[in-house]
Amino acid sequence: MTERPQLVLKQGKEQSLSRFHPWVFSGAVKGVKGPELTEGDIVEVLDSEDNFLAIGHYIIGSIAVRILSFNQEVIDYDFWKNRIQKAFDLRCAVGLADNANTNAFRLVHGEGDYLPGLIIDFYNGTAVVQMHTVGMYLVKDLIAKALQEVLGDRLKSVFNKSEGTMPYKADVEPVNGYIYGKSSEKIALENGLKFKVDWERGQKTGFFVDQRDNRSLIEHYSSNREVLNMFCYTGGFSFYAMRGGAKVVHSVDSSERAIQITNDNVELNFPGDKRHEAFAVDAFKYLNKIKNKYDLIILDPPAFAKHINVVKNALQGYRRLNAKALEQIRPGGILFTFSCSQVITKEQFRTMVFSAAARAGRKVRILQQLTQPADHPVDIYHPEGEYLKGLVVYVE
Ligand code: SAH
Repeated sequence: MTERPQLVLKQGKEQSLSRFHPWVFSGAVKGVKGPELTEGDIVEVLDSEDNFLAIGHYIIGSIAVRILSFNQEVIDYDFWKNRIQKAFDLRCAVGLADNANTNAFRLVHGEGDYLPGLIIDFYNGTAVVQMHTVGMYLVKDLIAKALQEVLGDRLKSVFNKSEGTMPYKADVEPVNGYIYGKSSEKIALENGLKFKVDWERGQKTGFFVDQRDNRSLIEHYSSNREVLNMFCYTGGFSFYAMRGGAKVVHSVDSSERAIQITNDNVELNFPGDKRHEAFAVDAFKYLNKIKNKYDLIILDPPAFAKHINVVKNALQGYRRLNAKALEQIRPGGILFTFSCSQVITKEQFRTMVFSAAARAGRKVRILQQLTQPADHPVDIYHPEGEYLKGLVVYVE
C-alpha cells in the first residue's frame, strides 16, 4: 500500500470514531504526518498514540475528515463498486429497484450508505450524481463506471449535478453535465403517477424523492377535502390528493418555473381536470388571506436552517408559518407539516408545532409522525442523517 497522509487526533478526541461516528471535526486534530496533505486526499486518522482509527476524505472546513472505512483498506475502484453494489442491494431489499410503479428512488444517501459526500438519485434510467466533497468529486468517473457495472441495462445515463453542491472554496470547478450516455427521457413514475424530472435545471437533483411515502399517505386523507399544497415545487403532493378523491387542490410555490412544471405534471396525470389550480405566490402572502378555505393543508418548506447558528431564527420562521396555517384551517382540518433542516431535531420541531398551535389558539392532536423513506437510510451511529421530520395533526 502506498504511504498515505495521516492526521493525528488530540488525546480523548478518538471517542466518537470508536463509536463509528463518521466525521472528524477540525478542532479534534493535533497534527499531520506523512506526505503532503491536500483537500480531497485519502487520509488515515490516528489516535494520540498513533493507533489507526479510520480512513476518509480530507476536507478543509469544520469537518476535517468524512470517514469511508474503519478498516485499513485500499480505496480503489473495487471499493467504490462494492459500496454502490451494497446501496443497490438495499434498494432491491426494500422493493424499490425493478418496481413496475416506481422508478424514481435515492440510490446513494451519503453517510446512510457509508458514502459520505455522495448523493445519487435514480430517475427511470438516469442516475443524477451530486458530490459534496472534493474527494468524491475526484472519483466521479470511477463512480460512473461502478454505476454501469452494478445497474447494467437499467442505466442509460449518468448526470453530474455538482456545480452547486461543492464547498465553494474548493479547488475544483465542477460543471453540470452527462458523464455517461445522455437521456431525453425525463418522465419518471412514482406509485403509478407520472412526474417530469428536470435534473438539468431543477432544484437539487430535480425532484424530492424523500417525500414519496408521505405523499402516498396524503392520498388516504384527501377524499372530499379541499387541499392546499403549499411549497408544491413540482406538485408531488397534489396528484396524490387528486387521486385520493380531493374536491379541490391548490398548489402554491413562489417559483414560476415550479408552477409551470406542476401544471405540466397535472396534465400528464389528470388531463383537463378542473379540480386543480396552481399559483406562483409567496407562502405568507397567500396564507394571510385564505380564511376557512381549506380542510387539508400541506406545508413542506425549504430548509430554513442550513447551519446550527441559525436554528433559533429558523424555528421562529417555522412557527410563524405553522401558526398561520393553523389559524386559517377549517375546523376538522388536517395539517401535514414538515421540516427538512438537518440541524433541527425532532423534539425542536414538535415543540415548534406546539407553540404554533398555542399561538393560533386551536386544539390540535397528533395523528401520525413522519420521517424519510427507506431509500434514505440512517446510519445508527450518525443520527444527524435523520433530517426529514413531519407531523400529521387534526385541528378542531
Ligand atoms: N413539496 C415539494 C418539495 C418542496 S421544496 C415536493 O413534494 O416535491 C420547497 C419549495 O418551496 C421550492 O419549490 C421553493 O421554490 C419553494 N419556496 C421557497 N420559499 C418560498 C416562499 N416564501 N413562498 C412559497 N414558496 C417558496
